[in-house]
Amino acid sequence: MEETLVQVKDLRTYYPIKGGLLNRRVADLKAVNGVSLDIPTGQTFGLVGESGCGKSTFGRSLLRLQKVTSGEVIIDGENILSLDRAGLMKARKDMQIIFQDPYGSLNPRMTVREIVREPLDTHKIGAKADRNGEVMRLLEVCGLRQTVADRYPHEFSGGQRQRVGIARALALKPKFIVADEPVSALDVSVQSQILNLIGDLQEEFGISFLFISHDLAVVQHISHEVGVMYFGKLVERAPAEELYSSPKHPYTKTLLEAIPQPDPTRNRTEVLVGGDIPSHLDPPKGCPFQPRCPVAMPECAEREPELKPVDSDDCSSRHQVSCWLY
Ligand code: SF4
Repeated sequence: MEETLVQVKDLRTYYPIKGGLLNRRVADLKAVNGVSLDIPTGQTFGLVGESGCGKSTFGRSLLRLQKVTSGEVIIDGENILSLDRAGLMKARKDMQIIFQDPYGSLNPRMTVREIVREPLDTHKIGAKADRNGEVMRLLEVCGLRQTVADRYPHEFSGGQRQRVGIARALALKPKFIVADEPVSALDVSVQSQILNLIGDLQEEFGISFLFISHDLAVVQHISHEVGVMYFGKLVERAPAEELYSSPKHPYTKTLLEAIPQPDPTRNRTEVLVGGDIPSHLDPPKGCPFQPRCPVAMPECAEREPELKPVDSDDCSSRHQVSCWLY
């Protein structure tokens, strides 16, 4: 039986919206509004949605890089949200993040050797004299030649910089990595190299990943399970194969239709969903997708559907959807 490494229960991350003469809190921007999911050891959960849907805030909230309003995040049996400073520092060893922009996240004044070695020094991993050897091993694992160790980030291509970011994330032998749009800033040809590297590392080291992307095509081959996020909530989740072969939610279907066919004249990042994500200051009544939904029914504007198993006779089904059509 699969062991669960990451368990998220009803996570909420709200940002206060201030206004008025006294600049008081007048509303909340509910960036993450009650998301629950679990990720088994050694598996990847692909989290997809348009920009502004809350997926990056969700990833950062799991690692406590973002203040959380309520909920639980249990990683390897420990509730991350209730840890004190020392406990969090210890737990951070097991959970890392890979950012979208490797250039912005690598200190331009540090060499690659210093960047990859820094977490080993901070957490005092291994004997000092052995850390250099470990840096070389990590560079090799990530497909970089050892001769690049004394170069600076600006001397590399985007793909190489992302390899350095991955080497640094691996330095502490994490059990869980949040990869936040790790390939969206890269050329398509380099994207597949980085995706293959992440897939290989997962197989070799049994790491669990939350892989965040705006593009369903990117997470397709790397994910065991996929969740689609809209307006701060999961609107559909399913084992990857099932989601791509039998999508249920109208939003998921539209995102899948937006995956470009091999046609150089079409923009890969273009998402063909009509209208905009609703305003958090004036959220729609009922289903949040209702103002954009091509198959909305009158009841959709009245009540908000919950995320439920598609097959109502099988409560344990991992294919869940929040839509009144099911
Ligand atoms: Fe569309 Fe209604 Fe389903 Fe929402 S509940 S996605 S509006 S059909």
